[in-house]
Amino acid sequence: MDVEVKETLYHYINGERVEGASGRFGDIYNPAFGTVVKQAPYAGAQEVDVAVNAAAAALPDWAATPPGSRVQVLFSFRDKVRNRMDELAEVISAEHGKTLADAKGSISRGLEVVEFACGIPQLLKGEMSEQVARGVGSYSIRQPVGVCAGITPFNFPAMVPLWMFPVAIACGNTFILKPSEKDPSCSLLMAELMKQAGLPDGVLNVVIGDREAVDALLVHPHVAAISFVGSSAVGEYIYRTGCKHGKRVQALCGAKNHMVVMPDADLDQAVDAAIGAGYGSAGERCMAVSVVVAVGDETADELTARLAPRVRDLTIGPGTDENVEMGPLVTPDHYSKVKSYVDLGVEEGADLVVDGRSLSLAGYEQGAFLGGCLFDHVTPDMKIYRDEIFGPVLCLVRVGSYGEALRLVSGHEYGNGAAIFTRDGGCAQDFAARVKTGMVGINVPIPVPAAYHSFGGWKNSLFGDHYIHGPEGVRFYTRMKTVTTRWPAAIQAGAQFNFRRGSEDN
Ligand code: NAD
Repeated sequence: MDVEVKETLYHYINGERVEGASGRFGDIYNPAFGTVVKQAPYAGAQEVDVAVNAAAAALPDWAATPPGSRVQVLFSFRDKVRNRMDELAEVISAEHGKTLADAKGSISRGLEVVEFACGIPQLLKGEMSEQVARGVGSYSIRQPVGVCAGITPFNFPAMVPLWMFPVAIACGNTFILKPSEKDPSCSLLMAELMKQAGLPDGVLNVVIGDREAVDALLVHPHVAAISFVGSSAVGEYIYRTGCKHGKRVQALCGAKNHMVVMPDADLDQAVDAAIGAGYGSAGERCMAVSVVVAVGDETADELTARLAPRVRDLTIGPGTDENVEMGPLVTPDHYSKVKSYVDLGVEEGADLVVDGRSLSLAGYEQGAFLGGCLFDHVTPDMKIYRDEIFGPVLCLVRVGSYGEALRLVSGHEYGNGAAIFTRDGGCAQDFAARVKTGMVGINVPIPVPAAYHSFGGWKNSLFGDHYIHGPEGVRFYTRMKTVTTRWPAAIQAGAQFNFRRGSEDN
């Protein structure tokens, strides 16, 4: 593979590839080699305006297209993505670094949302009441909100955009996708596949960019709703700014997911779970397990003893090698950030049981590869416990009781997901009922809801009211209208000037 060849990407607006006009560009790395392989154009306000106007122009016709016709595009898109799965996975791995198998898995999870969105005619069925008063009927329907925008993170270049645009478009909206500037190629390819699937021009547009493009979307008068997935600091800014400009905003944000291991847990199962959920995709998942909470010193000692050799033995290499379990981090900058957290953990006094900092792979010396790291004796006051590190760094915290574990998880500023490993049904039930997170796993480390449920967190892991995809996604991308009808044949009772109970005759 020739990693030196540079390619300049483009925006995708109104069904066409459009060259960047702002004069601003950014680098896209192949993180396995640590080299710049592409240039991404960074959109300015003017390019965003062109994209939003294209989406606004396409809106009336698309909103008026029957839902049953809209979903024909999604059925076809699903088949096209399936047919091009290998190519899409390669594109993702080349820019993000994750393994091909993991990339394919994430595309499949995204396609489940497409399949959910194919059911939109059923999901948009309204409610009807006859005779709310004599001769008067009432029905409630959900209509599209208008031009929607999606701002997505680097860690799931296919899946997170697929959480958004298929549902929005199925609901009759038009869409501007602003993918992460670190790995946008997959979004461009998916937009072209949507066109090939029969989507009219302007319904789905992709602009690449950084804060300047996001700010232009946040204030644009024709943008009605914004979905954001990314870090909490940016998400809070987007939520507040978007709301201030009258937009509906959902912002799904950062995480620090805890996995509580009770003394009665099946430790083989718990160790497998912690390894997969802690180090899969190099820990760059918002549902990654980053903290193991061991209840009792005996549990903690046993867990550390079993985890350490597994972490040392992780097979690390380029995501394109099919034997590899963990690829590189996304960019050299992110590698430096994660590594500096490992340095900090040592300074803070945590016990670095496995140190992956000196990893070097022959042929990939400049690659952003960090070996798996495992800390024991992490305490809640440490920054490595409080902050989201977003890398292959697992922190083990020791607590004395279940109650202490529950308070620890619930007291963290993030509340995306949490898991408990136990054989005790009562304990599991209590945890599910009382823990302050949006998603809970019982002997399941990464409890990502199926596409027909909704995904989201609590506290600083979500700003806004709506979770994403599933029924909450449909609510977010539609607004309700309630119509009250009376037809001339109904009883005429003269003008009414006072409110009365609805059931009284009008
Ligand atoms: P990020 O916040 O840096 O970037 C996300 C998006 O926001 C990108 O499109 C980026 O271009 C844009 N952006 C970045 N800085 C901005 C700024 N100052 N102003 C406006 N826009 C800006 O996140 P990331 O590093 O790409 O992704 C990792 C983060 O995403 C982690 O915190 C992870 O937990 C989170 N994440 C959350 C979920 C979830 O569902 N809760 C899912 C995936 C990822």
